[in-house]
Amino acid sequence: MSLGKRTKYLKINPRVPEINKIRMAAKILTRGGVVAFPTETVYGLGANALDRRAVSRIFRAKGRPADNPLIVHVASFRDVKELVAYLPPKANLLMRYFWPGPLTLILPRSDIVPDIVTAGLDTVGIRMPSHPIARALIRVSHLPIAAPSANISGRPSPTTGHHVLKDLRGKVDAVVDGGPSVVGVESTVLDLTSPVPTILRPGGITYEELKKILGDVAIDPAILGQENLRPKAPGMKYKHYAPKGEVFLIAGELSKVVVKIRSLVKNLQEKGLRVAVLATEETANFYNSEPRPDYLEVIGSRRSPATIASNLFAALRNCDRKHIDAILAETIPEEGIGLAVMNRLRKSAANRIIKA
Ligand code: AMP
Ligand code: MG
Repeated sequence: MSLGKRTKYLKINPRVPEINKIRMAAKILTRGGVVAFPTETVYGLGANALDRRAVSRIFRAKGRPADNPLIVHVASFRDVKELVAYLPPKANLLMRYFWPGPLTLILPRSDIVPDIVTAGLDTVGIRMPSHPIARALIRVSHLPIAAPSANISGRPSPTTGHHVLKDLRGKVDAVVDGGPSVVGVESTVLDLTSPVPTILRPGGITYEELKKILGDVAIDPAILGQENLRPKAPGMKYKHYAPKGEVFLIAGELSKVVVKIRSLVKNLQEKGLRVAVLATEETANFYNSEPRPDYLEVIGSRRSPATIASNLFAALRNCDRKHIDAILAETIPEEGIGLAVMNRLRKSAANRIIKA
C-alpha cells in the first residue's frame, strides 16, 4: 500500500452504529481494503482474513514482522467452525462464558485460513469482540476479519480514533472512530492446544476468571519476566508499546516508590531531561510539590486497576505529545487486570526496573 493513500474517516456512534456508515466500511473490507475500527480492548486494523492480499496490506501498513500472526475476529459461534480443524473440549465452555469479550482462543486451524494470517503456524487465534461497531462490521461484511492492533508496530496500542490517525493516516483505506476503547489493554491469548490451557498473553480476561471456569490454567513462563525463554505467542518477543521517551518502572513498597521517583525527577531534570511521572489517584498529590515533574499523568485508581488499564496506552502517548525524555512509572500488584497492565509496562520499559 503506497504512502499518501486517502484515508476515509468515519465517525460512528458506538451505542447505535449508523448502518449506512457500517455498510461503507464493510464494502471496503469486502473489496480487499484495510479498515481500522474500535473494539472494547484497543482499536484493530482489519481485513478479510480469507484474502491473502488483503491481509498482506495490514502487515505493510503497520510494518509488522511477518512471523507475528494475526487474531481472526468473528461475530457468531457458527463463524468459528470453518476456521478450525476441530474444537478442543474446553473451547465451547470458554466461548459460552467469555464471548463476546477480550479472550482470544488459540485453536487448531483449518485449511481455509491463509498462512499469512497464522504466520505459518498450524494454529489460529480467534476472538469474538463485544464492541457494537466491531460486531456490526463483521456481521455486515459477512467475513472473518483478521485484525492486529491498529498502531505502527512497536508503538503503544491505540485506544482512540485519534491515536490511529496519528499512526496510520495515509496508509489505510478507512478509520472508523467510535470513541475510546474501554478495556484499554488487548485480549488475553489462551492456548487450547496444549494439555493445560496456557495464557500466552495476559489481557482483558484475567487469570483468576479463567481459573474459576477451567480449574487448571498455566501461564507461559516466558512472559513472567524470564527473558531467556522463548514466548509461545510470537508477538510477545518483540519490543513493544514503546513511547519515544524511555520508560522506567519503580518497584517496591509504595511510600518508598514515591520517595525514589521524586529523587529521580530531580536527578534527571538536573541533567536537562524532560521527565514525566505516571502516578495513581492515591499518590498524585505527592508529586505536586518541588521537584515537580514536567508532566504528571494520573492513570487511574489503585482501588480500581481497570481504570489504570483503560488509560495506560493513552498515558504513554501523552508523554510523546509533551516531548518527554524519561517516564517514571509506579508499579501495581500483578493481580487481576494488573497482570496485563504490568506486562505492557514492563515491555514498554524494556525491563528497566528500579527497586525503591
Ligand atoms: P495483536 O493483534 O497486535 O494484539 O497481537 C496478537 C497477539 O496474539 C500476538 O502476540 C500474536 O503473536 C498472538 N497470536 C496470534 N495468533 C497466534 C497463534 N496462532 N499462536 C500463538 N500466538 C498467536
Ligand atoms: Mg499489537
